[in-house]
Amino acid sequence: MKYDLIVVRLGELTIKGRNRGRFEGLMLTRIRQSLAAFPALEYERTYGRIYIRLGDENYEGIEARLKDVFGVYSFSPAIRSGHALEEVQEKALALMNSLEPAPSTFKVTVKRAWKVYPHDSQEMNHLIGAHVLRNTPPLKVDVRHPDVELKVDIQPEGVYLSCEVVPGAGGFPLGMNGKAMLLLSGGIDSPVAGWMAMRKGLEIEAVHFHSYPFTSEQATEKVLSLTQRLAHYGGSIKLHLVPFTELQTRMVQSGHEHLIITLMRRTMLRIAERLAEKHGALAIVTGDSLGQVASQTLGSMNVIGRTVSLPLLRPLVMMDKQEIIRHAERIGTYETSILPYEDCCTLFVPKSPATNPNLRIVEKVEGYLGSELETLIEAAVQGTETIVMTPSGRAKPKREAASDESSARVEQPVDASAGKPASDQDEDRWF
Ligand code: ATP
Ligand code: MG
Repeated sequence: MKYDLIVVRLGELTIKGRNRGRFEGLMLTRIRQSLAAFPALEYERTYGRIYIRLGDENYEGIEARLKDVFGVYSFSPAIRSGHALEEVQEKALALMNSLEPAPSTFKVTVKRAWKVYPHDSQEMNHLIGAHVLRNTPPLKVDVRHPDVELKVDIQPEGVYLSCEVVPGAGGFPLGMNGKAMLLLSGGIDSPVAGWMAMRKGLEIEAVHFHSYPFTSEQATEKVLSLTQRLAHYGGSIKLHLVPFTELQTRMVQSGHEHLIITLMRRTMLRIAERLAEKHGALAIVTGDSLGQVASQTLGSMNVIGRTVSLPLLRPLVMMDKQEIIRHAERIGTYETSILPYEDCCTLFVPKSPATNPNLRIVEKVEGYLGSELETLIEAAVQGTETIVMTPSGRAKPKREAASDESSARVEQPVDASAGKPASDQDEDRWF
């Protein structure tokens, strides 16, 4: 079937008032950005919906992209008819006949938003249903559990017919709720946590701690790939690579073997908090899941989390590993996450890490390290390298990109506060 348009239904019905306008305006921007590869599309925004007129573009290629846009509740490919009853009946029949596999049962649901239309919804249900039945002998009506529901929406400008509802990703449009730093380890969990944070409207910047040369270059490449995959959903994502070797070595030397993971995690959070301040982020996201490992018991989370004052968001905290794995498979990060390269935290894992560390003792150990710890933390922040990843790979550094217009646009970060890309030109090149 050659569809005429897509009806997009927007999520988060709780948003009201001025925020509703902001939500819908940003939704339109994000949808346009994700479909920038289809220039013939035309957009129209109405309350709670966006219509995308397909023109010469094909629906099939667009569906896959639209499914990944956060804030879309569901969408339906539709055809448009004039108001004349015969035309509506013919188009309804053509649409039903185009379905594969052919349904055995159906029902018609008419909504008459344009109240001056000469037939009311009930009459239209019968007029359309009877026409389809007459011309498609094996088909039957089932109003309770139909294989297909043919939706007919009568509007002042025409009649829209659709019979497929594709679920969207839900949530909020990216950037609607501000920015957070994502602690991205290279494991299975943290990319899923990042996806969930983005789905809730958070723009993210990723922070990865590496202990090069103890950790390999492949381990860093793996994190680059994961960030690239997340950029498929987030347009482009900054990845901060923090040198952690010296800090880690110093903590290992402190002699409190069972507290090393606790000390490392607290230090990571402190560095992430400084980077958050520098880049205007208001929260830190981690892939912690309650009880998964020693550092993720309630006792550990408590002692680790107390070192920072920014909110710590742990989207996976109540999820089982199997659920997280299924999620990772769905968003396309699993295959990369299971590559066997070592993360800095797996390097010096003690035989019996503390599952219930004592905050006073941890603070005492940090006290011994004193100003040295502070100096090393500041050096790590200063030594951080930042890379911008786009869905197609690493964005060129600014100077190089100046001679290459398209990359320069890709590299522009999204201005989350305004809920808009940093420049109008970005809209076209954002994905
Ligand atoms: P993941 O699959 O995300 O690695 P995990 O179950 O292996 O999770 P941990 O290694 O204990 O859990 O890490 C818990 C969280 O701490 C991670 O989800 C991540 O947010 C953060 N983290 C751990 N190591 C690093 C790292 N090297 N760089 C950045 N963040 C890290
Ligand atoms: Mg890990």
